[in-house]
Amino acid sequence: MSFDSLGLAEPLLRAVHEYGYETPTPIQAQAIPAVLSGGDVMGGAQTGTGKTAGFVLPMLHRLMAKPAVRDAKGRLPIRALILTPTRELAAQVEESVRTYGKHARLSSMVMFGGVGMQPQIDKLRRGVDILVATPGRLLDHHQQGTLDLKSVEIFVLDEADRMLDMGFIHDIKKVLAVLPQKKQSLLFSATFSDEIKALADRLLNQPVLIEV
Ligand code: AMP
Repeated sequence: MSFDSLGLAEPLLRAVHEYGYETPTPIQAQAIPAVLSGGDVMGGAQTGTGKTAGFVLPMLHRLMAKPAVRDAKGRLPIRALILTPTRELAAQVEESVRTYGKHARLSSMVMFGGVGMQPQIDKLRRGVDILVATPGRLLDHHQQGTLDLKSVEIFVLDEADRMLDMGFIHDIKKVLAVLPQKKQSLLFSATFSDEIKALADRLLNQPVLIEV
């Protein structure tokens, strides 16, 4: 199996080849077509399986396939939101978005706490297609009115089990409450406890299940 047969746009395939990937990993082979089809996905995968490219590549493809619509103030809205449990993971995932999206005309931003709000506010104002964030700082911005999530088309909850272990369930519920009802949602977790299943029931609509 090669990346070329998965239906990804040429600029994404070019980036993948330049990065030196030859064959998709098992999670990529399953997740890429599932996410491309537009449905919700529940993925069971540990770090190291290639799950990041498994959701980032088809997410980029879907965003590229449909032009962004500017809001009433002429700003480009956030179209994809990826939530991660830690700053380190947020930074890594955004780095992957940049790598795989190198030839795609989309902008991304990473947002986490412990650093100043103002540079993040300035960056948001300039327009961001893809936001990778940890829950606390995301909610801070939302409460201050510096972040609009009404145009999110794709929502990814990465390492959901670690999020719950770190006590983020209330924050996640608050984020879900401000996202549009109509969106594509992807949940990745290394384990499936009852709590994760309950969260998946709340978030996902007839998800495709992928386990590697
Ligand atoms: P992840 O599980 O997403 O954190 O990825 C783990 C590592 O695998 C990262 O260093 C990726 O660069 C690498 N990787 C992801 N997909 C592939 C692939 N198809 N071929 C080779 N390496 C890959």
